[in-house]
Amino acid sequence: MASAQERTLMNGFSFPSDLSSVVCLGAHPDDIEIGAGGLVASLRGGYPDATFRFIVVTGSEERTAEAGVSATMLLGTNGSIVVGEFTDGFVPYENPGDVKRFVRSALPTGGIDLVIAPQLSDRHQDHAFVAALAGQLFRDQVILGYEIAKFDGGLDAPNLYVPLSSMEASAKVAHLKESFPSQLGHHWFTDDAFLALMKLRGIESNAPEGFAEGFVTTKMVVGVAKTAPGAS
Ligand SMILES: [Zn+2]
Repeated sequence: MASAQERTLMNGFSFPSDLSSVVCLGAHPDDIEIGAGGLVASLRGGYPDATFRFIVVTGSEERTAEAGVSATMLLGTNGSIVVGEFTDGFVPYENPGDVKRFVRSALPTGGIDLVIAPQLSDRHQDHAFVAALAGQLFRDQVILGYEIAKFDGGLDAPNLYVPLSSMEASAKVAHLKESFPSQLGHHWFTDDAFLALMKLRGIESNAPEGFAEGFVTTKMVVGVAKTAPGAS
């Protein structure tokens, strides 16, 4: 069995060097951090000038406050968050049109380079509705669908992985527990649950330090750089 030092990263594409605007959608205040906290922290470190907008559809007063603190810790002055007041568990059923209008009105002005959202196959009705909205509202961007382990089951097979170092994986878990104390009583909101999923995705992607986040992207368009004739 290969040691961590012997593992090599699978050849892959990188995010564009001019990435400057990222939008993250969540149905609930901790969704983005659970599904993509490692990716967001990595992007924040790799693209210090990029801006991030978190748009969260539901949130009680307590959970909205937690989401605000989390976003500030994660994004610093490069980020902003908008949290709606729709009802947890009823997102597709109560005023779905208003939810769509809310998300659309909360988008940043200017170009958006990348969208991070729930996966379309997510079995939680609120997550699935927000995933569908992402597909409707963003026609020109790559959408990375994050995953959340939960009672509903139904995790999909990722087709895109973002490797994380051991330190990054641990930092993600620490951030979740510190930022969302209201969720600590849930049986799925535990260190080992978060680490287990990142470990599994690390195995699948041959991640150098054994951890990764997995995503599903339903559609990507890839261009090929053209070299002018005679250019060297
Ligand atoms: Zn959720």
